Amino acid sequence: GAVPGSANLKQVKLERESELRIEVSEEPLRLRVVNGTAEIFGSELPPEIWRTFPPRMKFAVFTWYGATIEMDGVTETDYTADETPMVSYINVHAILDARRRFAKASTSNDPESSQGPRVIVVGPTDSGKSTLTKMLLSWAAKQGWRPTFVDLDVGQGSITIPGSIAAAPIEMPLDPVEGFPLDMALVYYYGHASPNMNVELYKALVKELAQVLEKQFVGNPESRAAGMVINTMGWIEGIGYELLLHAIDTFNASVVLVLGQEKLFSRLKDVLRSKSNVDVVKLHKSGGVVARVKEVRKRSRNFKIQEYFYGLSKELSPYANTSSFSDLQVFRIGGGPQAPKSALPAGSTSVSNPLRVTPVNIDDRDLLHSVLAVSYAEEPDQIISSNVSGFVYVTEVNVQKKKITYLAPSPGTLPSKLLVAGSLAWLESV
Ligand code: ADP
Repeated sequence: GAVPGSANLKQVKLERESELRIEVSEEPLRLRVVNGTAEIFGSELPPEIWRTFPPRMKFAVFTWYGATIEMDGVTETDYTADETPMVSYINVHAILDARRRFAKASTSNDPESSQGPRVIVVGPTDSGKSTLTKMLLSWAAKQGWRPTFVDLDVGQGSITIPGSIAAAPIEMPLDPVEGFPLDMALVYYYGHASPNMNVELYKALVKELAQVLEKQFVGNPESRAAGMVINTMGWIEGIGYELLLHAIDTFNASVVLVLGQEKLFSRLKDVLRSKSNVDVVKLHKSGGVVARVKEVRKRSRNFKIQEYFYGLSKELSPYANTSSFSDLQVFRIGGGPQAPKSALPAGSTSVSNPLRVTPVNIDDRDLLHSVLAVSYAEEPDQIISSNVSGFVYVTEVNVQKKKITYLAPSPGTLPSKLLVAGSLAWLESV
């Protein structure tokens, strides 16, 4: 009911195992727990403390034992739901937790038994994959584990700019507003919002990332025992399906969680039947997951880029730098979208090498407004096998003066002069 004194203050009483589902409007929303305990996607809210949620955020405040929530602001929608799949999700967590303890207790050097669960979350778009991933990671971190989060979704990246694949150790429950921490992330830049643009490159980068993590695990039994939670993209047909199998195989996944699609579940169960060490588990999609149309998805990609340079609520200001053309080298990988064979002239059999690294003319008009990754590579031929330190955004190309101006999240010269271009552009709307 309404609280006297403030027009937009509202209290909601939640029964045990129910949730308050909220879509924030174009104005931020303040919220706090006044009684009991509640969590947002696995991360517990401290009592009494107001938190501000940014415009358009969609989330649920869930309580295991009952809570009273106070909201200050006008929402797009808010309603209470007592039917959620949360019990089944926490049961998965309990099983993973047992496996982590087993792995940690394993005294042998046997790589098999000292390896914690490697969980991969799959399902169509808007089935709640990212959300389940967050819960599993936050619940694990709450119990003191440091699982590794792996994000393979180039369309809606959670860690950094879209077009990337990335991994990060999760040391504490995720912040319900800020989400995944970027500071310790290992990032590879693919450069496009769909794996379709260059399937071979996507696979190559997934492989690179997996190999680096594998090496890190060797020297770190604790993170090895904590295992991984891998989020994937919602493309599950055709090549998308092949890429899922590729990821399961490349990361040696031991638990495949299938959200919201019977067909995908039964297909995966079938092909993975021969692998006795892989469990395929079907889980219900939450009725709270909000479907996003293509336009919204595109907008949220844009916001993600904006967030990288300006922060979640534009609290940061990026640095504008100008460099001479001669101080930088920009490269592109592959030759754009791969044409299907049928689209090629009769008689020709192959398209250009998808892994070829080619220099881009820096006065290329296409560079204006593009997002470029700053590679850790020392030589151009190491670009595919190198992760990136971050991103810049090209705001001006001056052909006469041979200068390029870009925004960067930190001041000073870039850690490397080798930059990677893709097809991601961003029209700054600030
Ligand atoms: P996917 O990763 O499968 O595309 P997400 O996990 O990103 O799906 O969920 C889509 C949207 O729905 C996100 O904005 C997420 O915050 C929201 N969402 C998920 N679960 C709930 C819920 N129970 N209540 C309200 N919003 C939710």
